Formats: sequence, structure tokens, C-alpha cells
Amino acid sequence: MRQIDATAITEAVKELAMAANYQLGEDVIAALRRGAEEEESPAGREIFRQLLENARIASKERYPLCQDCGLTVVFAELGQEVHIVGGDFTEAIQEGVRQGYAQGYLRKSLCHPLTRQNTGDNTPAVVHTEIVPGDRLKLTVVPKGGGSENMSRVFMLKPAQGWPGIKEAVVTTVREAGPNPCPPVIVGVGIGGTLEQAALLAKKALLRELGRPNPDPQLAGLEAELLQAVNDLGIGPQGLGGRFTALEVHLLIQPCHIASLPVGVNLQCHAARHKETVL
Ligand code: SF4
Repeated sequence: MRQIDATAITEAVKELAMAANYQLGEDVIAALRRGAEEEESPAGREIFRQLLENARIASKERYPLCQDCGLTVVFAELGQEVHIVGGDFTEAIQEGVRQGYAQGYLRKSLCHPLTRQNTGDNTPAVVHTEIVPGDRLKLTVVPKGGGSENMSRVFMLKPAQGWPGIKEAVVTTVREAGPNPCPPVIVGVGIGGTLEQAALLAKKALLRELGRPNPDPQLAGLEAELLQAVNDLGIGPQGLGGRFTALEVHLLIQPCHIASLPVGVNLQCHAARHKETVL
């Protein structure tokens, strides 16, 4: 049994929270560069240029990429051969968020849902823990902006609606979102499971590196079809018109009940922030 100290978890989450808010991934930068070259609309090309400049300054000066530093979502893959010592596992993660948002001067964006009083330290983070084989702990920190999360949806379709219904659900979500989720977006789509599992699949789908094709050729083809349909809406960067409403569409699927067809659509704005580490 391998031991991991709770303080190491806190330290890792703290650093990931700051890094995610300051540095866009190289895959996102590459996608923005491609948009700057290929976008047909002059306004759209200028927006891509400004997004790249924003990312450059944020990384160099250690400023947040966006004033909305997000609700912190943490995915933890905990090896079953790991024993956490020196503290509580979940609290260690929450403390890492608390310290990262304080030390990094990141906006605290969480509040009581009824009184709207700010919790003051950006906790509680939403933590998804999965027990996996092995003796490692993988932590992925995702600061999720409110604008794009607000425009996300879950649909409980009838099985007979099939792929056309799924496609319509995705396109409708992006159309109704318009400029609100800060396009160009990445569209995470989760198909199957239950109501909550479809939403979780959609969020996990956003973690796949941009530019890396879906390993399932059938799903890769469906992603291309959805991307074409979404970009045919012409919403464009920041909603000012253009080809690049979305950079990519990512699909994750799993079996569902014979009476159900759950579809989650999680929109991710251009500030596509996530960082991971393995302890
Ligand atoms: S949706 Fe994204 S880019 Fe827009 S304000 Fe929120 S975090 Fe920032």
C-alpha cells in the first residue's frame, strides 16, 4: 500500500488551480491559431488574435485568463493501492482550492444558492472521485466559467428520436446559447447512462486534448458531423458571425436504459482551462 500525504494533495491542487487560471493548454493555443488563420470573418480573425494575445499576457504576467475564475471542478482518479495519510482526502482538495484562489488572487465566484452570499474562498469545489487500479492519484483541476455552464443542457430524449434527435439537441443548445457562452466554444456531448451520468460524460468529454481524434472512428465521424452542423449556425467568435462557432465537438457514450436516451451538452468557452498531475 503506497501512502500519499494529504498535504501533498493540497499543494498539488493549489498549484493546479493557479496554473489552470493562468495558462491555456498548448492544444487550445494551437486551435486558436488555426482559427486566426482560417476564420473567414475579419471580426472573427481579430477576436482570435486578441484571444491569443490575452493568453500570452496571462501566462507571462501570471494574470487570470478571464475575470471569471470559475467554479472549481476536480476529477480525482484514486488508485486502490493508495492510502491517504495525515488528513481527510476531500478536505485536502478543498484546502488546495482555498489556498490556490487566495494566493493566486483568483476571483471567488461561489455563493449560497438562495441568499447569494459569497462563500469567500471559492469552496466547496465539485469533486468527482473514481477508484481505479494502481498506486497513483491523478488530479485534474477544471475552473468552469459560469457563462458557458449556464448555457449547457441535459435532454431526456425518447429512444426513437435516435441520432437525428441527438443532433437536434446539440444544435439547439448552441443556437439558443448564441454569444452567451463566449464562443468559440468546445462542445462536450455525453450520450447514455442516466440523467446525471449524461451530464458528467459531457463534462469529461471536454477534457480530451484538442486536435486528438476520438479513438472510435464511428464517434469521430459523428463529432465531425456535429461540428459542421454547429458551425453552419454562423454564430462565430464572440457571436459576431463567422465559421468558428465551435473549435471542436467531443463525444463520450455509454449504455443506457432501453426506455431512455439521455443526452448531456456541456459548453466550454474559449477559456478552456484544465491542468492535471499524477502523485
Ligand atoms: S464563459 Fe468563459 S470566457 Fe466567458 S466570462 Fe465565463 S469564464 Fe470567461
